[in-house]
Amino acid sequence: MPKKRNGERLRLGIMGGTFDPIHLGHLVTAEEACQQFNLDHVVFMPSGEPPHKDKRKVTAAEHRYLMTMLAVVANPKFTLSRLEIESKQPSYTVDTVRRFYELYGDNLTLYFITGADAILDITTWKDYKELLERCSFIATSRPGYSLQKLQELLGSAFSVIMRHIHLLEVPAMAISSTEIRRRVAAGKTIRYLTPRPVEQYIYKNRLYIPHSLD
Ligand code: ATP
Ligand code: MG
Repeated sequence: MPKKRNGERLRLGIMGGTFDPIHLGHLVTAEEACQQFNLDHVVFMPSGEPPHKDKRKVTAAEHRYLMTMLAVVANPKFTLSRLEIESKQPSYTVDTVRRFYELYGDNLTLYFITGADAILDITTWKDYKELLERCSFIATSRPGYSLQKLQELLGSAFSVIMRHIHLLEVPAMAISSTEIRRRVAAGKTIRYLTPRPVEQYIYKNRLYIPHSLD
């Protein structure tokens, strides 16, 4: 876990996701947030039993964790956590945020980095008001998702919620894990959509090929 010398306030970003698999969209987003918000570290947090993703079978947590490690290990500002994958129950962001305050005490400024798509249903998240009080959100642009839609959806709650949400433009990357899984299943190339070691890991472990999708 990252530490800061001199008792200074630690500025951490949490990048949560299924990361099935991690791709350049995630990495560009985290890098931009890290620089723009002067973060000490971005902690990648692969989800365990994802509460929002019960429609499809998610790849084993250990595979997703290892792919994430392969993608982030060379960046000195990036780190990753097993907190959610080791949790026995479905992990909610608010639980993760509480845990970070337990680990670091109050000398912590926490940001949750997320794509615009994820923020659209923020009011359905567990204890979202507490979550927004304890942790600012960095909502990044993502092709196909507009934050204007959020305004329409939230109506009068919008201005209260937006006090806790910073919008960040990132270089557009129309990449998704869904598209990568589809491409692997169809035998199409995924080169340059995800770091090379992740691509190699996918092929080595025969992830996302049709008979292993079930
Ligand atoms: P899936 O297609 O399986 O939903 P995904 O590509 O959306 O996968 P997730 O693991 O669901 O990836 O996303 C983790 C976080 O990264 C979310 O906050 C999501 O909005 C954000 N994100 C994913 N892809 C991009 C992208 N191309 N640009 C910006 N943010 C992204
Ligand atoms: Mg997604």
